[in-house]
Amino acid sequence: MSILIAVLLAVALGLTLKKLRDYRRAIHSLGLSVVAKEPYLPEDRPAALGVEWDRLCAQTSELITENSRLNRLRTGQLVQLEATLGSLREAVLVVDESNHILLANGALQAIFPRAQNILGQRLELVLHSREFLEYVEAVRAARAEPQHEIEFVDGIHSTWIEMTGAKIPPLDGGKGSWALFVLHDITRQKKLENVRKDFVANVSHELRTPLSVIKGYIETLVDGHRDMPIADRERFLLTVQRHTERLNSLLEDLLTLSRLESIHPGLRRESTVLGALLAGMVDDYRARPAAAGHQLTFSVDPAVGELLVDPLKITQVFENLIDNALKYTPKGTQIDLRARLREHEVEACVHDNGPGIPAEDLPHIFERFYRVDKGRSREKGGTGLGLSIVKHIVQLHGGRVWVESTPGKGTSFYLSLPVRTH
Ligand code: ADP
Repeated sequence: MSILIAVLLAVALGLTLKKLRDYRRAIHSLGLSVVAKEPYLPEDRPAALGVEWDRLCAQTSELITENSRLNRLRTGQLVQLEATLGSLREAVLVVDESNHILLANGALQAIFPRAQNILGQRLELVLHSREFLEYVEAVRAARAEPQHEIEFVDGIHSTWIEMTGAKIPPLDGGKGSWALFVLHDITRQKKLENVRKDFVANVSHELRTPLSVIKGYIETLVDGHRDMPIADRERFLLTVQRHTERLNSLLEDLLTLSRLESIHPGLRRESTVLGALLAGMVDDYRARPAAAGHQLTFSVDPAVGELLVDPLKITQVFENLIDNALKYTPKGTQIDLRARLREHEVEACVHDNGPGIPAEDLPHIFERFYRVDKGRSREKGGTGLGLSIVKHIVQLHGGRVWVESTPGKGTSFYLSLPVRTH
């Protein structure tokens, strides 16, 4: 009897152990599915696990399927978000509560070329600007102005950025606040604004001098015209006339420049034989008293032929260059006009063997109102705009201007013009 009981107990124990093994194996397989995020679809289940086990497996599989769907959706949205941010012209930057960079789009890297692979880095290591860090804190503290302009200086380069910041709750549910910034590169606008300010200041200065001279002399003439000696009156009137002419030239040059810089600069191109144009000009100049004492020569390679240019404007270019060569060189100076064909361009040059231009002035010589010797330029009726007009006209024709000069040996102003294409 006791043997029978022992056998029965052994069988029961064997069966229980087998069940336990089956349970363990089934739970292990379910666990593997969860880890692999794949629905658990067992082909056969140990009978002992019952329908509750089937329900648990089905619910787990549903959860796994739903989780995979949400993950795909999230990945898709992230890809979409990255593509959208990447295609924005504005730079976008997101930082977490301790200023680690979480997101930076392509436009940001275009503005700051050194900011490559910056995800995860601290902001202050990437963008070196105290003002920006203060702005980030102000955005987090919700006390920042909606738009803010900051200058980022990197060596000699400076980049002006207009930025908008917003505090955002962390997407990972953590504490602290993230911050999102939209950055817009306004360096170009800033530069143009500065150019405009300088220009207005320069024009005002240039106008003030002749106007105050004219005003002074006219007042003296009005006060003393009854008993003023005739010689003084004549001298005063001649001074007024000279300064009025100066004002007139200045306004003429300003109008010319503004027309050249407008959207419709009025270029009237026509087929023009450059050699004939230059020959006519040299003849004309030789007859002028201003050129007496200077020697004017010209040589144009016959291969230059016809160019499709605005003859009046190209004439103005050479006139400005010849006038300068006459104004800024002493009598006896040789002025030489040359033109030759160079690959797809015509290269022309007005050369003089006068005193030349110091090397430090050469990079600025085509800037508006730039003069090497201010007094001499004004005395000679210069406006400081002649070379700037030359540069504009040549550039409108698709060409370039440059200057070479050796003090004591002379100056050569060069210009290139594209040859006719049809
Ligand atoms: P400006 O009205 O003063 O002549 P420009 O723009 O025509 O203005 O010329 C700028 C300056 O360049 C002049 O003031 C002069 O100092 C210098 N310059 C121009 N041409 C010559 C030249 N051939 N030789 C020496 N200096 C020159």
